Amino acid sequence: MDVVPDVSADRPTDASAVRASSLGAYTTLRLGGPAGTLTVAAEPDEAVSTVRGAARKGQPVLVLAGGSNVVIGDDGYPGTVVLLRTRGIRVVGQDDRGVLVRVAAGEPWDDLVAHTLERGLAGLEALSGIPGSTGATPIQNVGAYGQEVAHTIEAVHVYDRHEDTMRVLSVPECGFAYRSSIFKHSDRWLVLDVDFRLPETAESAPIRYAELAGRLGVTAGERVSAARVRETVLKLRAGKGMVLDPADPDTRSVGSFFTNPVLSAQEWAGVQDRLVDAGEPPSWPAPNGTVKVPAAWLIEKAGFGKGYSGADGVAISSKHTLALTNRGSGTTAALLDLAREIRNGVRDRFGVVLHPEPVLVNCAL
Ligand SMILES: Cc1cc2nc3c(=O)[nH]c(=O)nc-3n(C[C@H](O)[C@H](O)[C@H](O)COP(=O)(O)OP(=O)(O)OC[C@H]3O[C@@H](n4cnc5c(N)ncnc54)[C@H](O)[C@@H]3O)c2cc1C
Repeated sequence: MDVVPDVSADRPTDASAVRASSLGAYTTLRLGGPAGTLTVAAEPDEAVSTVRGAARKGQPVLVLAGGSNVVIGDDGYPGTVVLLRTRGIRVVGQDDRGVLVRVAAGEPWDDLVAHTLERGLAGLEALSGIPGSTGATPIQNVGAYGQEVAHTIEAVHVYDRHEDTMRVLSVPECGFAYRSSIFKHSDRWLVLDVDFRLPETAESAPIRYAELAGRLGVTAGERVSAARVRETVLKLRAGKGMVLDPADPDTRSVGSFFTNPVLSAQEWAGVQDRLVDAGEPPSWPAPNGTVKVPAAWLIEKAGFGKGYSGADGVAISSKHTLALTNRGSGTTAALLDLAREIRNGVRDRFGVVLHPEPVLVNCAL
């Protein structure tokens, strides 16, 4: 295990993109100040012992993997940062529902998707191209194009930091919901492995998302080749700046900055009263009579289009209204100012309060 007190020694060679000694070296936004101590854990035991040791000393710990869903303050993180770099994909069982695959938390997510498809296992294809680690996918129940990891996760292996014990959590115990779970905004859990149950077939799961179905030329509910779904999703995502590309500043983001608001019938009626010339927003029925509305539509209609700029080189992506980007010289303070301006604009225009999707570390909106 490496203990790296000063992260500047380990930052990427693209120095223009990263401020010295910054956790920005480990985030897709390229933002965030220094860590108190940075520890790289390549084995689960190392991660557990670091977290346990810090707890005994009363020091705060931040688990960081791909850094693609965090906004870290310009002052950084004063405690211990554990960079999770564990690896391993193993088949551990099989039954008539499919093959049980156990994946180490640090395993890069898109490598896993590619690997399972090559092995003839379906169920993750629509989640192609999402950055970050496998262990972070249960944190916010990662989802895209009609699939979410809750559809295929069978169990999550964790170290329970409160009880100082290892546990295996079933899907109901994980409390999965839209971009949420018991793990999000909690310092209790260190995810070590995730078990996925994947059917052995070359066919995709039923296509649920209209845009993807349209691009594939099928109707919702149909199945096509899972490999074709991956290829199509990667193209769709690249067109929106949603696949990491070091040469493309539109991808220097956390993906969607705001979740799509889920509105009560009363809130939804309030939005409709305020539409005036905005036209009718797209919407989807959600549980318990609620309605999900695209945050991107609300943001655009509130006057914040693609490319809208804040101060210090932060801007809405030129390809996707929901992605706030650091064009190279940004700060977390400037990014959050832009996010606040957008949130307040949408609230004033439609009476809807948007909530951030990433985890905010040592900073607030
Ligand atoms: C271009 C782009 C596109 C994106 N598209 C999507 C998308 O389509 N759908 C979607 O849902 N998300 C999307 N995201 C967000 C992000 O990629 C996912 O949330 C991803 O799962 C985060 O993984 P990570 O390893 O980078 O997590 P990190 O950013 O390192 O961590 C995120 C949070 O999870 C915690 N965490 C991470 N690993 C563990 C662990 N092993 N145990 C305990 N806690 C842990 C961290 O402490 C932090 O609170 C996108 C991001 C980008 C930059």
